[in-house]
Amino acid sequence: MSQGIQGVRGMNDVLPAVSGRWIHFESVVRDWVQSYGYQSIRMPILERTELFVRSIGEVTDIVEKEMYTFVDELNGEKLTLRPEGTASCVRAAIEHNLLYPGPQRLWYSGPMFRHERPQKGRYRQFHQVGVEALGFPGPDIDGEQILMCARLWRLLGLQDIRLELNSLGSAEARQRYRTRLIAYLESHADALDADARRRLHSNPLRVLDSKNPGMRDIIDGAPLLSDDLDEASARHFEELQGILRRAGVPFTLNPRLVRGLDYYNATVFEWVTDKLGAQGTVCAGGRYDGLIGQIGGKAAPACGFAMGVERLLALMDEAGVQSPAEVPDVYVVRQGDTAQHYGESVAESLRDLGLRVTLHCGGGSFKSQMKKADGSGAAFAVIIGDNEAQAGRVMLKPLREQQEQQLLTPEQAGELIKKSR
Ligand code: ATP
Ligand code: MG
Repeated sequence: MSQGIQGVRGMNDVLPAVSGRWIHFESVVRDWVQSYGYQSIRMPILERTELFVRSIGEVTDIVEKEMYTFVDELNGEKLTLRPEGTASCVRAAIEHNLLYPGPQRLWYSGPMFRHERPQKGRYRQFHQVGVEALGFPGPDIDGEQILMCARLWRLLGLQDIRLELNSLGSAEARQRYRTRLIAYLESHADALDADARRRLHSNPLRVLDSKNPGMRDIIDGAPLLSDDLDEASARHFEELQGILRRAGVPFTLNPRLVRGLDYYNATVFEWVTDKLGAQGTVCAGGRYDGLIGQIGGKAAPACGFAMGVERLLALMDEAGVQSPAEVPDVYVVRQGDTAQHYGESVAESLRDLGLRVTLHCGGGSFKSQMKKADGSGAAFAVIIGDNEAQAGRVMLKPLREQQEQQLLTPEQAGELIKKSR
């Protein structure tokens, strides 16, 4: 026997035992984005590497060490499996002139790829739902997006998620802050880890996003960007907080929150839970007013966020949220030559009534077929022997309740099953 081939480390199969939860999540999300007027966009999984380098930033964890990049040997193009969706979404919007008629509310979902150390809540292929509002200056849209998140947590039955908020100000404000931050970090040079030392002059703000616990004290003592905030950003931030207060959405100001991607400015936020250990950020976003211009579009303000699907599903699991079971309404059991053929048309006519039907295939005794019917989770079995087939009838047997079986026409059986759903 040849040796089995295993999947790629950090890339998970979603098996039938849990895929029902994914489907439930996806259907809640689809209704939710529509209820806020967001339109679906689907981008390719591969992009030119340059797109991510230019948008996420050269001196970031993602671009420095997490991207799956390769040269397409067939034409020499340098390509990258998308590590996030914002850059692709903005690229597509520019390429197809989506902003020409006016601002756009867009959403997408799908797999993202980052070469990280796999652990609970951190995978090499993971999934995000992303929401991007392009061409909106805010803060009204910033507020709407945060309210939107709060509503999704309610729809999913999640409670233990808190909101952290900060403003990164304008590019000029960050430039002023940068000088102060570099001076501070230089005065603590001995305590910096290798990453921080390397980034000290190229991208000092990234030092604040370090996940190294040994850097905690240095980061806590760093000067605050909020002291350098420009007037327009301060007003924007104040108005956003007003929207949240009026809507009764609690938040914590976290002046250390900088996010790991370079394109953010002004509003940044994270939704965090304590229930998932170290991987506690389930959703993150903010404004990126410079990005559209930076990757070749006509400058336009924008705001968006992305959530980690695996982490939200883990949280739903933790909270004991039940998703509707993925079971058939009825399992069709058949034995005998006439019954075999009749069963095919019965199953199709039950499906015509809108029922979920599993037709037994592969033969076997009545007894073994009934075992399968039981194991399917269906509430009913439709049983067909040659006698039933010749009479144009089926035997309807409730599987979950102590009730008599009944001889009926397929239509009568179908209507009864529908009524009891
Ligand atoms: P973290 O701080 O946990 O590394 P991040 O800041 O790198 O997250 P973002 O780029 O903001 O993450 O992505 C948005 C969300 O996507 C995160 O809040 C998280 O829920 C999810 N996410 C990011 N990376 C992973 C991963 N490797 N595995 C699973 N989920 C992830
Ligand atoms: Mg990360």
